[in-house]
Amino acid sequence: MELEVVLKWMELFNEKVQAEKVKLTELDTPIGDADHGNNMSRGMKAVMEGLETDQPETAADALKVVAKNLLSNVGGSAGPLYGSAILGLAKGVQNEAELAESMNDGLEAIKKRGKSTEGEKTMIDTWSPVVKALKEGTLTSNVIQDAVENTKDMKATKGRASYVGERSIGHIDPGAYSSGLLFEAFIEAGG
Ligand code: ADP
Ligand code: MG
Ligand code: MG
Repeated sequence: MELEVVLKWMELFNEKVQAEKVKLTELDTPIGDADHGNNMSRGMKAVMEGLETDQPETAADALKVVAKNLLSNVGGSAGPLYGSAILGLAKGVQNEAELAESMNDGLEAIKKRGKSTEGEKTMIDTWSPVVKALKEGTLTSNVIQDAVENTKDMKATKGRASYVGERSIGHIDPGAYSSGLLFEAFIEAGG
């Protein structure tokens, strides 16, 4: 992955997060604590400032700046989870692994940190189909949208949404939605 792609990717992701801040919080209202929009907005603002200040010179270093700022600026569970994921990705990029492999490292990092897996109505349910499609060379916006939409019928068994149990069914998971924005931005950045 090239440095320019990472910078463009984060610029586009930031734009989407800021534009959909209210939507992210609305999704986090029936099944969470209504802060996902604020959390992601604050985190991505810090990421953009961090990239500006640190001026990383490689893609891996840029991803580490992203991870560091998400880890320390996003309150709640999403920050550490996104931070771990991007750090996992950074390590793969640093080792010049295949893109799908590196993204899979990111997915594995979420699973490890969140003690979670597919089908639990979390961001993993976006990451996992995306990684699969990347491996197969079939990643499109449709794959992303379907993955996000599919979380609607799932019952949450991890994170705050698990507190509402059966009542989580019928709502899209906020973290799956924001991960959708992340991967839409990735495609648009030419990643
Ligand atoms: P919080 O739930 O602490 O308020 P956010 O609202 O910012 O944090 O983020 C919630 C999102 O984090 C959920 O929608 C879900 O996608 C993700 N999430 C929460 N717990 C886990 C977990 N254990 N594994 C994977 N993802 C999780
Ligand atoms: Mg929340
Ligand atoms: Mg919270």
